[in-house]
Formats: sequence, C-alpha cells, structure tokens
Amino acid sequence: MSACPNTADTLTAAATAEPLPVLGRDVTVPLVTGGEVTYAALDYAASAPALQRVWDDVAAYAPYYGSVHRGAGYLSQLSTDLFENSRRTVAEFLGCRPDDQVVFTRSTTDSLNLLAAVAPADCQVFVFETEHHASLLPWRDAQVTYLNAPRSPAEAVSTLERALDVRAGRGPALVCVTGASNVTGELWPVRELAAAAHARGARIVLDAAQLAPHHAVDIAGLDVDWVAFSGHKLYAPFGSGVLAGRADWLRDGEPYLAGGGASRRVARRADGGVDVDWHTTAARHEAGSPNVIGAYAIASACTALTEAGFDALAAREQRLVRRVREGLAEVPEVRVLSLFGDDAPRVGVLSFVVEGWNSSHFAAALSAEYGIGVRDGLFCAHPLLRTLLGSGPQEPGECGAPEAGPGERSLNAIRVSFGAGT
Ligand code: PLP
Repeated sequence: MSACPNTADTLTAAATAEPLPVLGRDVTVPLVTGGEVTYAALDYAASAPALQRVWDDVAAYAPYYGSVHRGAGYLSQLSTDLFENSRRTVAEFLGCRPDDQVVFTRSTTDSLNLLAAVAPADCQVFVFETEHHASLLPWRDAQVTYLNAPRSPAEAVSTLERALDVRAGRGPALVCVTGASNVTGELWPVRELAAAAHARGARIVLDAAQLAPHHAVDIAGLDVDWVAFSGHKLYAPFGSGVLAGRADWLRDGEPYLAGGGASRRVARRADGGVDVDWHTTAARHEAGSPNVIGAYAIASACTALTEAGFDALAAREQRLVRRVREGLAEVPEVRVLSLFGDDAPRVGVLSFVVEGWNSSHFAAALSAEYGIGVRDGLFCAHPLLRTLLGSGPQEPGECGAPEAGPGERSLNAIRVSFGAGT
C-alpha cells in the first residue's frame, strides 16, 4: 500500500527551498519500489544535520586538539582558549547578563537535570503537563505541580498565575517551560510567563531545545533565569549542550559531577576523610575532561546562525511551513495538531495524523517509498499527545507508540520539522 502520494509530494516540495549548507544534503537512499532518491531530511526537531561551517571549523581545529585546563603545552593552551572563548560566544548568542554562568553539559536533558540537582531542596516546581519529558521528569524528587494543558498563550499565563498565587509558603519556586513545542512547534509566551513568575517570587527556566535553532533567544530580554539547549538540534552534533543563567543556584548547589576540574583544592583531614574546596564558576559542574569539540561546535553554530540572521532563516522556514500546511489542507484525511489553534505562531515543526492510517506505518511508507525522513510516535511528550489526539490511556514504550490495527484511529502522530538546511 502506498502512503498518500499528495502528502509525499507536499513534503518533498517543502524540502527544496534554498538552504544553508549542511552535511548530508546529497545522501541518496534506496526505495522499496526500486532505484534511489535524494534523502529529504524532515526531522530537524529530533537532530539537525551539522552545518557545513560547523564541520569545517571542527575539522580545522582537530589537528590542534589537546586537553583543556590541564596542560602547559601549546595545544593544551590553545584548546583551553578555544573552550573558554566558546563559552563567551554562547553567552553573547544568548544575550547573557554580566553575572550569568554558561555551563557546558551533554544536552538539554542534562542541563535540566543539572538545574534540578542544584535547586534548593525546598524548591517548589511548576511545569505544564504539555512539556517534553526532559522538562517534565527531572523534578520528580522535588515538590512538583503539574499544570493542565492550556488552550491559548493567555490561558498558559493565567494558569501559571493562579498556581503560583496559591502555592504554599514563600520559599523558592521554579517554573520550567518550553519556548517552542517539539510537537506542535507552537511558540509559548515566555516573556509573559517570566513576568508572572517573577512577580510572584518564582524563577523560570526556558527549555530552548526547539526555540534556539529557529529564533534568537535573549535571556536578559525575555527575563528568564536560565536557558537550556542542545548542540545536536543546533546543527552541532558533537555531544554537548548548555545551561546558562543565574549564578547563585549554580554556585551554591552541590557539584553535578564530582571529580577533577570541579575542585580547587582537595586535602586529607586529620580524621581520615577529605576536604574539598569546589570551584564557584561553571567549572564546578564540568568535572572531568571537557568536551572541547562539542563546545566549539556549538559556538561555531551560534556564530553561523547569527551571521545568517534569524529573521531571514525564520522567513524561509515560515514559507516552508505555509507550503506544507497548504498541501496538507488539500488532503481531507489529514488533521494538523495544535494546542493554541490553527493560526498560532509556530517554528518549523508540525505534527499531524492521517485518518485511517497508523502513523508509524505512514512514516515508514514515506521513508521506504519516497525517501522522506519524518518522526512518528509520541515525541517524548506523552501527556501532550494524549490531549491532542483525544485518546485514552496508552502503554507505549518510551517515546514510542502503541500499535493500532488496520483502520483504527491513530494513537500516535507524524512530525515534520525544518531548519536552516531544509
Ligand atoms: N526539550 C525539548 C522541547 C525537546 O524537543 C527535546 C528533544 O527532543 C529535549 C528537551 C531533550 O533534548 P535532548 O534529547 O537533546 O536532551
């Protein structure tokens, strides 16, 4: 059985606008129907291909690779400079305040787990049920309030305001919110949520995993306390991520990882134990030999995106989104998923279901028959998918989806996502 040809044509056409150079644009893949076709990568929201510029920068540095913060030799010095300069580039990219810290992590998930680890023990956490699991789950040991899915940006703000107004005591509180949904691509009212949080004595962390690849993220302008994002979604797939923001919790919390590089001084005590004097800078949470290539790749991507200009990138991406939406609108069986309504502003991320199709089978057919790579499943946002699909309780595998029989209503969705290289 063929996947709906109209839908396939729409997705292929969307992938042919002028892109920034990325790796893998010319990759050909075999089709089950015979022959091969140039791969159409429409899954940027999962992992974006490396920008050619990032690849070139990393390759140019590779012969000079050396240990960071741990050597007197020329290559160690150079690598240390590169690592610390990368930190400065990221701080500029995010519009950090002078006292903010930029910690290099492994990913957004790692960054949010780091923040959960350093948050005060009595911190109350507020998170919408619509978040990615990386934002929903790190706080399970804290006192979490899960907020119901709002149906408009204004409702998101009023829901948060109400929850913060009735919170117990005036101790520390933290709101965790996404900038752009990894399912619908819809933009969240970050500035307004930050204002609501701060007016009620709470702090806010922005999950910018899906926002940073598409929009300038201005930490000071948005007045958020922390921002987290991943290198592999920002065209820099070398195993690194970022947590940037207020220094106090980072400075006062226990080191996320204990080990060399995080400690200034370690000495045996008379009673046989050890005294440790931990760094109070970002190094406190970066124990072990840092991933200098990952950090440099992120900095390179930040520079490339800034030079290309987010306005231009967003305008091109919006053209692609419009084309896909127009094409999908011609297929009566297609329903595009939305929390805030069809006209809500969104980045180049869009999910839909096709009546009569199991989304996993549909996505597999797009790949096998047309060489189009999309994502299917529940996108590590199970509660949100349940709200959007209106389906009952499910027992899917992590980020996966349950099987639906032939002709049954789809219990999962298909996601197409664009970026600077599409
Ligand atoms: N937050 C959002 C909105 C995401 O889309 C993702 C990944 O898809 C994450 C967090 C987790 O990112 P990572 O897997 O890089 O840790």
